[in-house]
Amino acid sequence: DDDAAGLLSLLRAVPDHPAPGITFWDITPLLGDAGALARATEALAVAAQALPGGRVDLVAGVEARGFVLGAPLALALGAGFVPLRKAGKLPWRTVRQDYSLEYGKASIEAHEDAVPAGARVLVIDDVLATGGTAAAACALVNRLGGELAGVVFLLELLSLQGRAALAPALAGAPVTSVLQTP
Ligand code: IMP
Repeated sequence: DDDAAGLLSLLRAVPDHPAPGITFWDITPLLGDAGALARATEALAVAAQALPGGRVDLVAGVEARGFVLGAPLALALGAGFVPLRKAGKLPWRTVRQDYSLEYGKASIEAHEDAVPAGARVLVIDDVLATGGTAAAACALVNRLGGELAGVVFLLELLSLQGRAALAPALAGAPVTSVLQTP
């Protein structure tokens, strides 16, 4: 629709970043536009509220752009916010989830008491690419004792088929994205 097209027009496709042959979708032009930031946040909230399964107690955002979008989403949903950080950043006791990237490995961490038992947690990140990061975020939420309410993305890169890679980590929880690129 018009609103999605308007938001998509504010994304910058950067060729050959971070490596030759990869196109990186840069969301900073959208973040820097006051109206677009408001519309994107609203669209994320509408998408999250349309997910089957009901209430969201916590929004868990993946460092770093999942923080930028996740905090306003949590406010809009009346939920708290949990940062899923790169390894080594959090000050207290943590649970760590290791995962594989296309080249190499990475880890995310959360404080071990970040999710009360049975809390319903919505995971957010800016971009669904191969799905590995979001799958790790879902696994971490489960290990923390949360119930996965779903996963939302601002942008889904359809050609990478990240949903298929993410599916095993979902255990039936729903996924949605506000914008899609072919
Ligand atoms: P994954 O391949 O789905 O695991 O994506 C890895 C991480 O890099 C996620 O946190 C994404 O937000 C980020 N990412 C991957 N591709 C892009 C992109 O084109 N633009 C912005 N972020 C990206």
